[in-house]
Amino acid sequence: MTTRKEKIIIGNLKMNGSLDFYSSYFNDVKENLKNLNNVLIGLCVPYPYLFKAEEILKNSNIGWGSQNVAKFLSGAYTGEVSAGMLKDFLSLYVIVGHSERNTAYCESDENIADKFKIIKDQGMMPILCVGETLIEREAGIMETVVESQLKAIIERYGAKTFDDTIIAYEPIWAIGSDMAATPAQTNKMCKFIRNKINKNITNEVKNLKIIYGGSVNTKNALQLFALESVDGGLIGRASLDVSEFVSICKAATSVTKK
Ligand code: PEP
Repeated sequence: MTTRKEKIIIGNLKMNGSLDFYSSYFNDVKENLKNLNNVLIGLCVPYPYLFKAEEILKNSNIGWGSQNVAKFLSGAYTGEVSAGMLKDFLSLYVIVGHSERNTAYCESDENIADKFKIIKDQGMMPILCVGETLIEREAGIMETVVESQLKAIIERYGAKTFDDTIIAYEPIWAIGSDMAATPAQTNKMCKFIRNKINKNITNEVKNLKIIYGGSVNTKNALQLFALESVDGGLIGRASLDVSEFVSICKAATSVTKK
């Protein structure tokens, strides 16, 4: 069980790498981060490399997982991978609702909610991505957009389903763009997300991490992670480079209250 004060850094390696790449990448990350305390680290990799993650990262301080999952437990769903299969490789984290999937595969809010629930029910930790487009931000409706993404889960499964989960605020315009959200924009939205989830329940959600993703790099990591409402980061491109990813993880430790 994690505590609120621990930051969490998740690498989203997307559809990158190869068996050779991951064989050295996992070893290098493991070696360079072995003494890092007060920060949780996870690597979400393409399905075929989960076995390598398990082989190299087991007994280390680094968790691993995937970038998607099927919304069904098993059956005639050609091309899908179930939560149980992910668990066979001791996966801990599953990214769900990433905007790249939503755009390319028309992932509906309903699908995302069902996947979120199945990940939790199977004892893994969902990393739910929420965020607005640039047009939506410019129109001033970013909070309405994020609220409706959260509502899709709250209305189906209740706000307490966010216990022991991660929400990544990823403004779509900031992903892969070199234009990270400002600290003020990030802080405001992460606070908004926590308040919305806790709004109609008597006992606040437990162990909900709200992290930021979108063009995090070694230059902006410290400023973003130091924000009171930000529990860490979801790192895309910068996670592919071991030394950059290691520096970002170190930035997270340096702002963690002991
Ligand atoms: C992402 O796609 O989850 C992401 C954060 O990407 P990048 O860091 O490359 O913007």
